[in-house]
Amino acid sequence: MPLRFELLSTAASGARRARIHLPHRIVETPVFMPVGTQGTVKAVPQNILEDLGAQIILGNTYHLYLRPGHELIRSLGGLHKFISWPRAMLTDSGGFQVFSLSKLRKLTEQGVEFRSHLDGSKHMFSPEHSMNVQIALGADICMAFDECTEYPADEARAAESLRYTMAWAARSLTHFRAHQHLVPWHNEFNGQTQSLFGIVQGGMYPHLRRESAQRLVEMNFDGYAIGGLSVGEPRDLTREVIAEVLPLLPKDKPRYVMGVGFPDEIVEYARMGVDMMDCVIPTRAARHGLLFTSEGRMNIKNRQFADDPNPPDSQCSCPTCSRYSRAYLRHLMQTGEPLGGTLNSIHNLAFYLNTMATLHSQLDEPTTTEHALANPLTR
Ligand SMILES: [Zn+2]
Repeated sequence: MPLRFELLSTAASGARRARIHLPHRIVETPVFMPVGTQGTVKAVPQNILEDLGAQIILGNTYHLYLRPGHELIRSLGGLHKFISWPRAMLTDSGGFQVFSLSKLRKLTEQGVEFRSHLDGSKHMFSPEHSMNVQIALGADICMAFDECTEYPADEARAAESLRYTMAWAARSLTHFRAHQHLVPWHNEFNGQTQSLFGIVQGGMYPHLRRESAQRLVEMNFDGYAIGGLSVGEPRDLTREVIAEVLPLLPKDKPRYVMGVGFPDEIVEYARMGVDMMDCVIPTRAARHGLLFTSEGRMNIKNRQFADDPNPPDSQCSCPTCSRYSRAYLRHLMQTGEPLGGTLNSIHNLAFYLNTMATLHSQLDEPTTTEHALANPLTR
């Protein structure tokens, strides 16, 4: 039995409050999912992610396949056990990294042949192989193998790319359904299984996006993602594609926009009716000294913070803000101490997760006005 989607309410703006019942966690949505590329949300230990309220995190199939290898992870009981994360997880298909990181790729109907960005060794990713790897990793949600269309791409290129993605979606689903019993935790959760999401592609072309959505819905996935965004296109275009696709997706299944965004973006897309989002921005920005706060963005490396005894964000009660000063965080960045990246990441993740929690309470409040909804960032 795949995930159960419990829709609690839909606001006038389209924003949805829902619960996604997964084997390892009931996830309250809209949800922001921290990215744990190599089986770790960079620089932040799992117990702190739990304290911050992270409900579900991502793992990257391409990276974990190359190192330490999916069979090794399977032999250790799956990714949850391997990294000691008891809550929900989602793995991507590996497609995005194959296309963005690997060398000498060769695209065929069968799949993609590529050389590892680590040692140049030769590998092949097909829909079937991506499913085998994701089943071995054992995340609660897996993603169909797709080709992420680059930006800009002309219409012929976007259509050709979509042709692969649609054929691969059907093969992913068939192989997944036939082999999902091989998940390391089979039978541990009263018949609950992994779920598989289809990914809507089509570049920035509305008719290709519509075709993609309609065909995926006919295939009957457990949820739907909108991929191929945040690839360098202007934000107006991102919003247009999301607005085009959302109404075509079933109301009774989760909707996931991949790879977005800044805090104001995740709020905006949640308002439009997106249930799930993930992004490396909070942790990547943190390692470069960029903090998201209730007063806006703050570059903690700036000289003005050298003797500032205040916490990074006076409105935040995260473990970083309740203990450390701006002056100390700046010192850690100046000296290149790894603790700086850790403390900054903890705050930024707290900011993202608290933003979503604030949005939940606004959506749960029946008298919420659209204006109040628009501003959970200024709480
Ligand atoms: Zn904080």
